Amino acid sequence: AAKDRGKGMFQRYLPEMGERIVEAARLSRHLREAIGTDQFHLLYQPIVDLDTGRIRGVETLVRWVHPERGPVSPAEFIPVAENTGLIVPLGRWILAEACRQAAEWRATDPNARHLTVSVNVAGRQLEEPGFVAEVTGLLDETGLPPDRLTIEVTETAVIEGGDVVDVLNDLRALGLGLALDDFGTAASSLGLLLTCPVSQLKLDRSFVEAVTTTDRQAAVATAVIQMARALRLRAVAEGIETTEQAEYLRHLGYRLGQGFLFARPLPPGEITQRLAAAPVRV
Ligand code: C2E
Ligand code: MG
Ligand code: MG
Ligand code: MG
Repeated sequence: AAKDRGKGMFQRYLPEMGERIVEAARLSRHLREAIGTDQFHLLYQPIVDLDTGRIRGVETLVRWVHPERGPVSPAEFIPVAENTGLIVPLGRWILAEACRQAAEWRATDPNARHLTVSVNVAGRQLEEPGFVAEVTGLLDETGLPPDRLTIEVTETAVIEGGDVVDVLNDLRALGLGLALDDFGTAASSLGLLLTCPVSQLKLDRSFVEAVTTTDRQAAVATAVIQMARALRLRAVAEGIETTEQAEYLRHLGYRLGQGFLFARPLPPGEITQRLAAAPVRV
């Protein structure tokens, strides 16, 4: 009977697996074809001061709209881009476009003088020889002050990457900010605080979700803000969706927050509008 079951399993799962493999191959082919075309654009999600509601920074988030597939979520295509190496040319464009946009805001919008622009960078990009030179070149070209640019890396990118700590040290030496993204979700987060020149922690959304109702989540959020303070790091709470969460995190001591409560990722023109508008208090 085991044999029959085994056979049944293959009959049921093999075609599905095959479809999935074919679909994955199609996705990476579409991605490869899309690099260098205008299928990508960048959105910017506000990072706000929880006390005043003012926009203090924005996180750059890439969007891909394929002519036939329509919008593809970064959660779906960024891992493919990382595995295929396509993140290198794509990431190069994202960084350049974000720096250009940041410099444009500074040049044209008095409200954007103190705005920080964060850019997600994959481990593969940090490992690429010449990454630091690329960043230096972009800062020179655009005239963007280095402290207006923050690189966001995940703990996993740093743990899995080879000599990326040297690269991170170089970036910090240039004056850039360095955020540990999705903080708390990987295994060796705490060790990284000793080895990496981090300037900011981004408390992962998973700890924010039930922060007001679950003691354990509240305890983690509290521990992270205390640690950030002791280490003199900025802390951003990610994925804030309700006023209760914002209020609670503010009471815990978080100064900065990001999430749908304040704004979704927005096109650049809408960031300009929001910078001009009175801050929204929650
Ligand atoms: P991330 O860097 O942690 O970005 C935050 C993600 O949370 C974004 O998803 C954002 O839209 C979403 N988010 C923000 N506020 C809320 C909220 O209140 N509730 C919920 N449910 N979600 C919220 P997105 O844009 O789909 O990006 C997903 C991930 O893809 C990012 O996570 C990042 O790891 C990666 N990614 C996005 N853009 C880039 C990029 O330009 N380069 C690289 N290397 N990775 C990127
Ligand atoms: Mg991020
Ligand atoms: Mg994050
Ligand atoms: Mg995340």
